[in-house]
Amino acid sequence: MKITDIRATTVAVPLEAPLLHSNGAHWGRFIRTIVEVEADNGLVGLGEMGGGGESAEAAFRALAPYLEGHDPFELEALRFKIANPTASLYNNRTQMLAAIEFACIDLIGQHLGVPAYDLLGGKIRDTVPFASYLFYRYPGKDTGEVRTPEQLVAHARALKEEHGFSVHKLKGGVFPPGYELECYLALAEAFPDDRLRYDPNAVLSMDEGVRFGKAIEHLNNDYLEDPVWGLEGLRLVRERVDVPLATNTVVVNFEQLATNVLRRSADVVLLDTTFWGGIRPCVKAAGICETFQVGVSVHSSGELGIQLATMLHLGAVLPNLTYAADAHYHHLADDVIEGGKLRYVDGRIPVPTGPGLGVRLDRDKVAEYVELYRELGGYPYDRDPGRPGWYPLVPNERWADPTVTLSAI
Ligand SMILES: [Mg+2]
Repeated sequence: MKITDIRATTVAVPLEAPLLHSNGAHWGRFIRTIVEVEADNGLVGLGEMGGGGESAEAAFRALAPYLEGHDPFELEALRFKIANPTASLYNNRTQMLAAIEFACIDLIGQHLGVPAYDLLGGKIRDTVPFASYLFYRYPGKDTGEVRTPEQLVAHARALKEEHGFSVHKLKGGVFPPGYELECYLALAEAFPDDRLRYDPNAVLSMDEGVRFGKAIEHLNNDYLEDPVWGLEGLRLVRERVDVPLATNTVVVNFEQLATNVLRRSADVVLLDTTFWGGIRPCVKAAGICETFQVGVSVHSSGELGIQLATMLHLGAVLPNLTYAADAHYHHLADDVIEGGKLRYVDGRIPVPTGPGLGVRLDRDKVAEYVELYRELGGYPYDRDPGRPGWYPLVPNERWADPTVTLSAI
């Protein structure tokens, strides 16, 4: 099997509501690039990358000469062809490599008639558990704001009812830490049997990080995720707080993982199939984590069904996945895969069992969301439409005002 072509298509898929985070917001839609890698046997492998637009599409097109004639089975060679570690200092192609790796694994699976998990060591579990991933939200078309502790608990209750979550992750770093602590405590009180995690995206100061950590020590925490910036920051918080620490910001490659093994800063590493350059690097990293007793979870950088499938196949094969995965997925209003959005059952999503990634494109949906992208365009991840001109510091002090109603944007 040889690769003959690569296509990249940008789509905008609506979210139920705009989601706030420490850097800004997701403005009511996800912009994603769908990557299709075609082989000489007529098969098409699917990949996905965050962001999009003309420059992303052109960047993938520019890789056609690298890929034409390449055998999709040669995944290690692919890494050096596209993202050689020293060349990457100049061209920074890790995320593109990831999308192409997904597509190659999809091609191999379709060619052999086996699901991706069988190429990755075989599945340990049939379904992958997910956390509720709660955001402060602007009102959506059919939803109200999520700002107060009461609104947050009601939102979590509705998601639990609909999807069966028993782990709740609060994405914070938006309002002052004391206020977000109140929200977290309200969740703990409302769901005493569920597990919790808090992630302010590394914007707390050392003092605030330690204060937050100490204040939640008595709760049913999975972990405190990136309370402060940096391996050293996390290490110092970890020394002073009796809550496991997790990161998806400063252990995102093997060099950083080695540092974290030699001098522990994070107890849990959230593996992201995009940030790490593919599903296989995540499996390798999880093996290192297993040896050194570093916990693993699955990170979500915002996904449609193709990327979600990579997260499911990853989750299926990791023996040491002892934490529920994260996904933005349930905030999406729709998807571009055949059959529509994959569904949660008791807080878990069944791992696709079809050949390759096990998901196929719904061409009508792709056309619809290509059109939506043309209409609305992209949005800056690091801007909040409700606070023009604002940008955060790290550590931050420019918090949103929790007493001000979030109105539709
Ligand atoms: Mg995080």
